[in-house]
Amino acid sequence: SKDFDDDNDPGRVRVSVRVRPRNGEELISDADFSDLVELQPEIKRLKLKKNNWNSESYRFDEVFTDTASQKRVYEGVAKPVVEGVLNGYNGTIMAYGQTGTGKTYTVGKIGKDDAAERGIMVRALEDILVNASSASASVSVEISYLQLYMETIQDLLAPEKNNISINEDAKTGEVSVPGATVVHIQDLDHFLQVLQVGETNRHAANTKMNTESSRSHAILTVHVRRAMNEKAEMGTKSRDKEAKPESMDKGIPKVRKSKLLIVDLAGSERINKSGTDGHLIEEAKFINLSLTSLGKCINALAEGSSHIPTRDSKLTRLLRDSFGGSARTSLIITIGPSARYHAETTSTIMFGQRAM
Ligand code: ADP
Ligand code: MG
Repeated sequence: SKDFDDDNDPGRVRVSVRVRPRNGEELISDADFSDLVELQPEIKRLKLKKNNWNSESYRFDEVFTDTASQKRVYEGVAKPVVEGVLNGYNGTIMAYGQTGTGKTYTVGKIGKDDAAERGIMVRALEDILVNASSASASVSVEISYLQLYMETIQDLLAPEKNNISINEDAKTGEVSVPGATVVHIQDLDHFLQVLQVGETNRHAANTKMNTESSRSHAILTVHVRRAMNEKAEMGTKSRDKEAKPESMDKGIPKVRKSKLLIVDLAGSERINKSGTDGHLIEEAKFINLSLTSLGKCINALAEGSSHIPTRDSKLTRLLRDSFGGSARTSLIITIGPSARYHAETTSTIMFGQRAM
């Protein structure tokens, strides 16, 4: 089974693929109108054209065509991770792909005027907040929202904080970002406002630095503290010794602490800024570092390696306790529909396959 419920393989990465609808230009230009990929969502396969004669078929956990709704994508990609988080397990949801293929649409879309357009961040918060109002538990939800560019972390909720450091607890291995603004979320409307502030700041910061947002990672962290009442706790089976929820003294409800990271990754297209000697210049190396390092960690995870090299970059250090082990990880790769992106699409699909 390739499900998260498979106790034999709890650390595996769930990998889905989504193709964006053709945009106006792609619809008009005949030359690039050939189909690069053929999606077979019912058998969860994607056929990639290698050349005019050959194609190769790949299996994914979920395959979403250009007509898949945001709701379906949320349910296939994110919901299992969110459920884990509500049960006390950390989780990570990431979107990986070339710039312009729908990463931000998939994870970050706010959908102010049309709730059907809402992306994974909003739907995850909605699910978590709905849970907060249930009778069996009381949940407190806090978020922070960061941008990572060239191995520097900036607070998207307070952009003047532009060099934030990561803390790792030597004993527990818990990762925290003590300098980041933390907002206690009251309801979904409140979250939409905060997310909008972050989006506006992301845009402004990139304009100011004269960089493109496509070069930066946006990382939303959702801290969930769930206090169970006695009755609800009795019915919950403990699956994993490592992730045992914190027990408190008798008479005080048990509290489960977990966090969810939702990451809108930088564009996966290679940045080949080379100097006069033909070597990749420092800036390009730096921009690529976190994504390259993420790839190495995902491969190590997929291979079942006991050593996941998370120390090499800020992104993987941030993910360290929400990735592998008892945490649930879900990766959605996004691709464009046009044959003109053959090289980038192939490389994105290979990144996804190596994660499985
Ligand atoms: P990325 O973040 O990967 O650079 P975007 O999310 O900004 O890409 O998407 C590029 C454009 O395509 C945006 O205008 C976005 O609204 C549109 N788009 C992407 N995916 C979809 C989709 N599944 N349905 C409709 N529009 C989409
Ligand atoms: Mg984007």
